Amino acid sequence: KPVLFWFRRDLRLADHPGLHAALERARANGGAVIPVFVHDREAGGLGAAPRWRLGEGLRVFAEALAEKGSRLILRQGEPLQVLRDLIDETGADCIMWQRAYAPDSIERDSDVKAALESDGIEVESHPGHLLFEPWTVETKQGGFYKVYTPMWNMVKDRDVPEPLRAPSHLRAPDRWPDSDALDDWEMGAAMRQGAAVVAAHATVGEAAARDKFKCFLRDTIADYAKGRDRMDARGTSEMSEPLSYGEIGPRTLWHGAKGAGQGKGVEIYLKELVWREFAYHLMYHTPRLLSDNWREKWDSFPWKEDRRLREVRAWEQARTGVPIVDAALREMYVTGRMHNRARMIVASYLCKHCMVHWRIGQEWFADCLIDWDPASNALGWQWTAGSGPDAAPYFRVYNPYTQAEKFDPDGSYVTAWVAEGQSRPPATALAYFDAIPRAWGLSPDDPYPEPVVSHEEGRARALEAYENRDF
Ligand code: FAD
Repeated sequence: KPVLFWFRRDLRLADHPGLHAALERARANGGAVIPVFVHDREAGGLGAAPRWRLGEGLRVFAEALAEKGSRLILRQGEPLQVLRDLIDETGADCIMWQRAYAPDSIERDSDVKAALESDGIEVESHPGHLLFEPWTVETKQGGFYKVYTPMWNMVKDRDVPEPLRAPSHLRAPDRWPDSDALDDWEMGAAMRQGAAVVAAHATVGEAAARDKFKCFLRDTIADYAKGRDRMDARGTSEMSEPLSYGEIGPRTLWHGAKGAGQGKGVEIYLKELVWREFAYHLMYHTPRLLSDNWREKWDSFPWKEDRRLREVRAWEQARTGVPIVDAALREMYVTGRMHNRARMIVASYLCKHCMVHWRIGQEWFADCLIDWDPASNALGWQWTAGSGPDAAPYFRVYNPYTQAEKFDPDGSYVTAWVAEGQSRPPATALAYFDAIPRAWGLSPDDPYPEPVVSHEEGRARALEAYENRDF
């Protein structure tokens, strides 16, 4: 009998403990593994860029499976019904998947598991998305970690299993069930800028991710300690995008980095991987991280939360009048990516200078980022806003101008993305104006705007609002 493997955000063949287990079982029974992806409410509810990027990931993953003699069966609907149909059609008596950790995914998976088990189907879930399962990392008192550094100290010397090799061949079942056509799902339909704009900057699929990571280990990791903060250079691994769709496994990154030596760059890289673990750990133990102020005291803070506000529009349209903020937001709109330092600067400007609720920025990122990740995005916003765990202290209001002097010292990042005022703007800066909706009414020939909120005014106002509260 075949085993169904329900792929979700784990579109890879190597370093995949769940797929490995499914293949072992199928081999023992003389059966095959049938790979399945279900377009459910979760996939349908993704923001524009992540949903498009998921579609691209599925396309490339289906090709990789075909090269191994297999197929990716695509179905749309409620997962339980879809899986029951597939069990009827294929005679499978076992279904496996890799665990997901967002609260809605946990609820979905628990319900599907209970229902299928009551049908007499064997159900197995496996790790693979994280280095450490969130419930296996505990403080000495037995609770979960609310602060990053002690969690890092607890996990840094743990044994992380070596990544598993990709299977060399996948056996086909006697008969393949029908599959939807990916194009019919119109995964890129909501992309305002058109998918082709962002496609030029995406790294799609397992093979591309591995190649990029190899280059990072060879050329960049040694200088990562310094290089990672520079917005004007590509000093980071850019693995968040493939990690988000599971096109590369975290164990591959962990062991790859460890194999690159003992330098400072390697240690800091491992620490960054554990920031991702910390985000998942917190989302698992406190799901409100995704939607509400993690520190409840912040509920009384006078955030503004109206999309129509002038400051919000200026920020989303990347016309705040603060060049480093606009450069970063334009980079994200065109490429689907944004440098980590730039994320902190634009988030701080929105939440602190403009006093707009972090949820507004979180949603915009969820619509624009091709590396969107529920846990890291929520933690990044709450951390920067001050409402989150282990957050930046409230009085740290980034000065966007000094940040630009430090991390874009000759202004080349701003020049690359802000066209206004340049007699011959570069293609990147013009690409933004080609990509935005006409209705925004913007042109590269417009004069560059005055800041929607100046640094001095914004800082003073934010500090006054904080000081009137007992944080
Ligand atoms: P590298 O510097 O090469 O780091 C290696 C890996 O470590 C990354 O791929 C990522 O998985 C992890 N990592 C690094 N920094 C962080 C961090 N601060 N938090 C969690 N994990 C980290 N990351 C996302 O993957 N998706 C998001 O939607 C997202 N939203 C963010 C929103 C805000 C406001 C902020 C401040 C940060 C956000 N981050 C998010 C975290 C971080 O900015 C990105 O992970 C990083 O920029 C990815 O680039 P990289 O892969 O080149 O990172």
